[in-house]
Amino acid sequence: MLKRFFPLLLTVLLACSCSTLSQINWDYGHLANAGMKAATAASITDEQVVELCRQAVAYTDAQTPMAEAKYLQRLQKLMSGVSQVDGKTLNFKVYKSNEVNACAYGDGSVRVNSALMDLMDDDELFAVIGHELGHVVNKDSMKAMKRAYLGSAAREAIFAAGGYGQLAGTILGDISEAYVNAQFSQSQESRADDFGFQFSVDRGRDPYGMCRSLEKLNDLAGGAQSSALAKMFSSHPDSAKRAAKMRKKADQLTGQETTK
Ligand SMILES: [Zn+2]
Repeated sequence: MLKRFFPLLLTVLLACSCSTLSQINWDYGHLANAGMKAATAASITDEQVVELCRQAVAYTDAQTPMAEAKYLQRLQKLMSGVSQVDGKTLNFKVYKSNEVNACAYGDGSVRVNSALMDLMDDDELFAVIGHELGHVVNKDSMKAMKRAYLGSAAREAIFAAGGYGQLAGTILGDISEAYVNAQFSQSQESRADDFGFQFSVDRGRDPYGMCRSLEKLNDLAGGAQSSALAKMFSSHPDSAKRAAKMRKKADQLTGQETTK
């Protein structure tokens, strides 16, 4: 997630798409019958986490203004050769937002803020999305959503409702907020950077896209006047080191002398 990712982030609120939920069997009935009051990490399946992602994204989509069509057109053109990662079919939307951020979810949803697209050229944007997809491939996104769910009141609500179904908007809002505020470890971020780098190189993109995007985000953080933006960047104190590492990898790939 970008937020965790690059210090910038997108605001996630939720709404709900009632159509798909009924198709999901949360299979919590037996837990309720056994007198259990709360789900545990081990009792939640990947399928259920994916459904949580779908609901959270649908809610956020309904709550967030979309950017002008040209943004989505640019993004779709840029990502036209990438339809799936880790078996998940990707879907893209661009939010109209002044916050520089992007986020990928465990169900394959990718949400990018217009401010991020304004800041990045195509190679940089491609690398950023590659980084986000790295979190999906590495299961970071699924783990974060599971934690967000377990930390919310939703598990109780699901049991109270008989074990199924569409979560209420307020609950989805809580889960989404927890999800976007979650932080990945430095190790997770580093692995996502590596994924974004290779993702770009494998598809013929500029190998310097990953480092330039991180450098831009770092510069933005340094000059940020906005407390909200500063807060987001503060969660990534090692962004300069990450950028330097990616620049070194690009130098090595292109045979250039490393100056750092
Ligand atoms: Zn990240």
